Amino acid sequence: MRKILVANRGEIALRVMKSIKNMGILTVAIYSEADREAPHVRFADEAICLGPPPSSQSYLRGDLIISEALKLGVDGIHPGYGFLSENAAFARAVVAAGITFIGPSPESMEVMGSKLAAKDAVKRYDIPMVPGIDEAVEDPEKAKAIAREIGFPILIKASAGGGGKGMRIVEREEELEAQMERAISEAISSFGDGAVFIEKYITGPRHIEIQVLSDQHGNNLYLFERECSIQRRHQKVVEEAPSGVLTPEVRKAMGEDAVKVAKSCDYVGAGTVEFLLDSDMNYYFLEMNTRLQVEHPVTEWITGIDLVEQQIRVARGEKLAFRQEDLQINGHAMELRIYAEDPMNGFLPSIGTLEKFSYPTGPNIRLDSGYTEGMEIPIYYDPMIAKLVTYGHTREAACQEMVKAIQQFQVEGLATTLPFGLFVFQHEAFLQAKFDTGFVGQYFKPEHLVEAKKAEAEVAAALAVWLYEEEQKQLKVVGSVKSNWKGRLGS
Ligand code: ADP
Repeated sequence: MRKILVANRGEIALRVMKSIKNMGILTVAIYSEADREAPHVRFADEAICLGPPPSSQSYLRGDLIISEALKLGVDGIHPGYGFLSENAAFARAVVAAGITFIGPSPESMEVMGSKLAAKDAVKRYDIPMVPGIDEAVEDPEKAKAIAREIGFPILIKASAGGGGKGMRIVEREEELEAQMERAISEAISSFGDGAVFIEKYITGPRHIEIQVLSDQHGNNLYLFERECSIQRRHQKVVEEAPSGVLTPEVRKAMGEDAVKVAKSCDYVGAGTVEFLLDSDMNYYFLEMNTRLQVEHPVTEWITGIDLVEQQIRVARGEKLAFRQEDLQINGHAMELRIYAEDPMNGFLPSIGTLEKFSYPTGPNIRLDSGYTEGMEIPIYYDPMIAKLVTYGHTREAACQEMVKAIQQFQVEGLATTLPFGLFVFQHEAFLQAKFDTGFVGQYFKPEHLVEAKKAEAEVAAALAVWLYEEEQKQLKVVGSVKSNWKGRLGS
């Protein structure tokens, strides 16, 4: 491969291009009119403007991306995450145009893109599943009978779901019909597919996912786990690797089961198998994501493996150069997603300009960002500004690095999840690794940030008073020294 087009924007486009450049391969960026000045455009060897800001007229224009790629002699396309990354039709069209798609086959994407098809594919492999049904349900009476059998609470889920959308918890039978209607209409409006199914709602689970890597020669490896239990609206905001609670035995069992999931759909490339872990350390398969995950840097840090480089090597037909027994966990990595969202106001998007954007650097800090100071956060795309990743030899050290880094991070012009991050990384339950996906609901109240801000303001005010007093003292000393001098001079 001589030239790779990255069909994405922001931090992931930039991050992917860095690995491509390191491999001595040329890069092509795509951008919308809202992203003319974006760092990913400036970083690339060549860049193509696709059209107006809305994704449907730019980043989702698969046809245009392929025709432009052909004009520029591109021989590989990396989709990043989001946008077209899990679109089987796009992957198929890329391959049909004679370009390598850096990702799994369209068939693997199709199977794993549907939660129901995924459950069906995995069935043969004896992998623990969340109790529930493995087919779509439309009739509320049938749904009630199933729910009674599984036992409340249950979760109604969209088969085509993603990003935590189309999910409804049902505590009692009386609520089922209304919740089911809502789940179906949300599934239709978000995914154009109203198929929903029922799962047991696992109370207080942890979200643990396994990074897998497979080549085209039948080698399938697991690169250990990431814990992603700190979520708002069923969406991740803090991730870490390894998890603070897995035993080596459970880690191995989950890793081997994740490899089976990869095999069940003839997976090729980097993928993620998601599980829920209950308080008794039982785990259940949730779904597989057939792309690079947002949170992949924590895995890169503890394994020392560049996942994008591996994706490219695998896509060009190379055999994986290491075996399972060569892989090891070294230290601990933490990630905070910095969203343009206001944690004081229900994590609603906070749109504005990055009037100030300065962050700490150092050997234990990695910042993946697609923005620079002065840029506006466009309303058209995902509101994630950056990912702050820290490393330590122990979990405690990685947390301490994160606290320091957040305290040194300066963002002005809009609200972000940074103060929420500080709350998490200083919280006793988090520090002791005693938490689950209910962490935010259980512990977090916007008042905490108000109090923290107040405390910060009080410290700042006290410091100002102290500085003033010290200055006054100094002036007095200087004054008296001066008068002494005068006295001496006079004598
Ligand atoms: P999506 O594809 O929308 O991200 P997932 O199936 O990956 O949906 O689930 C996202 C999150 O929703 C999980 O990390 C977990 O917090 C919650 N969740 C999903 N299924 C269940 C379940 N059966 N019981 C409890 N929580 C669940």
